[in-house]
Amino acid sequence: KEARRPMMAGNWKMNLNHLEAIALTQKLAFSLPEKQLNDVEVVVLPPFVDLRSVQTLIDGDKLLLGYGAQDLSPFPSGAYTGDVSGPMLAKLGCQYVVVGHSERRAYHHEDDVLVAEKVKAALAHGIAPILCVGEGLDVREAAGHVTYCVNQLDAALVGLTAEQVEKIVIAYEPVWAIGTGKTATPEDAQEVIGAIRQRIAETFPGPTAERVRLLYGGSVKSSNIVEIMAGPDIDGALIGGASLDAEEFVRIVRYKD
Ligand code: PEP
Repeated sequence: KEARRPMMAGNWKMNLNHLEAIALTQKLAFSLPEKQLNDVEVVVLPPFVDLRSVQTLIDGDKLLLGYGAQDLSPFPSGAYTGDVSGPMLAKLGCQYVVVGHSERRAYHHEDDVLVAEKVKAALAHGIAPILCVGEGLDVREAAGHVTYCVNQLDAALVGLTAEQVEKIVIAYEPVWAIGTGKTATPEDAQEVIGAIRQRIAETFPGPTAERVRLLYGGSVKSSNIVEIMAGPDIDGALIGGASLDAEEFVRIVRYKD
């Protein structure tokens, strides 16, 4: 675990106006000392329309923050009204893109096949996917969560090389814990995340499984991050609501203090 750099990624979803997006990025940069940002990788995931401004701030001032988008098209260009492609995000300097978030799976009917295409599209343009997997409450109550998440993982990684998989960040986000205030217990999170690492080890023999970073997401707050990060396979968190509050997000990033 020590060899993997922890990551705290803030998924802003469809929130903040333009000025607020700029202000939040600036507050994070001002509040987090360089040493902290070397220790923990901090990533912001703004709406598409704010990416250019966030890029200007981060690149212009050489801030040690990473940034990325919340979705991408599986296609590089073409007649896909309203979509944003991998090459467009790469031009904006995005290092990361969220793929397969449960809100897109639910509200945009994204299935495992499309999610796998998006993973490939991101990698093809040098952007690291933050691949989300996670079960709903019905699956959890039927105790099918581990199998369900491993199946989503298998489907998303099909046809990839070990080198490609090492670039991916995988977030376990139980749907019943997203935006609900219900956090999975640290044991629940470690159970699934441990199973994900084990599955990667089986599918890609060699160092891949030890290198890939695995995050937990779902109602993460400064009050629960320490116990979540204690999980031996948990390398960070994908944070929704709490990432919109600069002070709270900074407290999460400083979980070691
Ligand atoms: C998310 O949607 O990625 C998420 C984890 O949201 P929240 O932290 O608000 O539960």
